[in-house]
Amino acid sequence: METPYGRLSAVHAMIDSACADAGRDAASVRLLAVSKRHPVAAIRKLQAQGQLAFGENYVDEALEKQAALADVDIEWHYIGPIQSNKTRDLAAHFQWVQSVDREKILKRLSAQRPDDLPPMNICLQVNVDAEPQKAGAAPADLPGLAELAGGLPGLRLRGLMCIPRATDSITQTRASFARTRECFEALCVAGHELDTLSMGMSGDIAPAIAEGSTMVRVGTALFGPRD
Ligand SMILES: *Cc1c(COP(=O)(O)O)cnc(C)c1O
Repeated sequence: METPYGRLSAVHAMIDSACADAGRDAASVRLLAVSKRHPVAAIRKLQAQGQLAFGENYVDEALEKQAALADVDIEWHYIGPIQSNKTRDLAAHFQWVQSVDREKILKRLSAQRPDDLPPMNICLQVNVDAEPQKAGAAPADLPGLAELAGGLPGLRLRGLMCIPRATDSITQTRASFARTRECFEALCVAGHELDTLSMGMSGDIAPAIAEGSTMVRVGTALFGPRD
């Protein structure tokens, strides 16, 4: 359990068992390794064990790591808060941005995505518990943002991402996941072709999968505690 390899297989075992409990195919949930504040060497080790998708929260930290890991195949996801003066770096250096929550960011990512790269994969972040200090769009704003994203060149809208309110109550967390799934389903009914419901972190993988998550974002359970 202490080696990185032990942790990776333990997390896969958690995902598999949550899928079995939910009557879902284990292949329907992707694992995103959240490597913020963990060193390049740890990413390199996990990548060598077959983990290819990594998530980062700070643009400057991510760019440094990407430069140091340019020799290996990694799919980079940005999952942190977005300042508009950083969108050019995001557009050029990431395959996914999961934390888009406003019009201005969609327009800038679209305009700044280099022509020689495939469309940027986008998730809209939902502030599902209406926390004033937290990033994310209000559920009521999702239809308009999805409509805009769907029409912009250089972007491919994939789905939604949420970070529920921090609480010890799994029941409350699960209710937040369920509300996010309802937002996702409403967008699908409205005609958006979405395949990604990004929810669940180290502490709540199972309830997220029970509510339909297709991508869990796991840091601590893979890398150990951050400073
Ligand atoms: C840090 C972070 C995670 C991972 O959290 P852990 O509890 O360490 O698994 C997932 N998603 C986002 C958006 C994060 O910022």
